[in-house]
Amino acid sequence: MNNALTFCQMPLDRASTLRKDPIWLQAQLGAKKSQFYFFWRGKFLYIEQKICVFTKEIDNRLKRNFTDVAMFTDVAMFTDVVHASSPTFLGTNADVAHFVCDLSQMGEDELGYWLTKLAIDKIKFIDFRRSLSLLRPQQSAILSYGKALIHWQQSALYCGCCGAKTKQLDGGHRRLCLNNSCQKEHFPRTDPAVIMLVEYQPKSGPAVCLLAEHHRTPEQVYSTLAGFVDPGESLEEAVTREVFEEAGVVVTNVRYVDSQPWPFPNSIMLGFIAQAQSMELCLEEAELRSASWFTAEQLADFNDWGDDVEGPKLPRKESIARLLIDSWCKSQLADASIAG
Ligand SMILES: [Zn+2]
Repeated sequence: MNNALTFCQMPLDRASTLRKDPIWLQAQLGAKKSQFYFFWRGKFLYIEQKICVFTKEIDNRLKRNFTDVAMFTDVAMFTDVVHASSPTFLGTNADVAHFVCDLSQMGEDELGYWLTKLAIDKIKFIDFRRSLSLLRPQQSAILSYGKALIHWQQSALYCGCCGAKTKQLDGGHRRLCLNNSCQKEHFPRTDPAVIMLVEYQPKSGPAVCLLAEHHRTPEQVYSTLAGFVDPGESLEEAVTREVFEEAGVVVTNVRYVDSQPWPFPNSIMLGFIAQAQSMELCLEEAELRSASWFTAEQLADFNDWGDDVEGPKLPRKESIARLLIDSWCKSQLADASIAG
């Protein structure tokens, strides 16, 4: 695992055995030092630029470690809202339990009323993806985990087998069908997706890699190809199929590089590098706006995602796509300097 990647620095012990014990879980819900994050329809609660954490009692040791967290301790307000939200247990850090409370059931008016009652300056919900720059890697790992679990819970309120209601168990990590003749258990799902840097080594001259403008990203952002793994398919087969479907390129020598949980909404991105057999392209226009081959030297002149300038840009720095591109460029430029 590459620890530099966003969402990959989880500081919590998931306590997957302890969370099955309802008495232990209840004690953590009531514990003075337990910490609660608040989620509403894709957004987390912030005070100014700091992620907001509710706790009955501030642990000074934790406060020293989490100086960029806004802690709030109004017990009356806290208890009501926590109870109403069926908190999801995330894990423990230094014996302090962390929970996320999903308030998405609240309408906008009710939510606005609650925020007004809190009477805290500059308190607001911020879209998770837009707030990534405000978070340390450990915080983004905790919140992405919470967001993915909540997404699964919202989609598993009813049993996929019989349609009856389900109930939450194990602190939000299992749901049980309430129909006595079914009683199917449901567990969180993660969708595997492959993402790959395709390279080609011409007979002479520097190696090139294939990057594409996707319809789902802003124009002039060039990224790697990617796609979901089909049932009954190995990861290597998925890479080979996706590259051929999207770009018409045959690849071999598919090698695993790294992975990254991707909570938009609940995927794991599995990063690969693969060798193209030719540079001829046949693009799937429904997916890609354009695609081209680039040398590492050309990519060095690209701008960054979000730069307010004309010209080609690279994908977001926190993405595995960017990691694949950056590490390929680094190895190419290193090879060039050795050869030179
Ligand atoms: Zn059922």
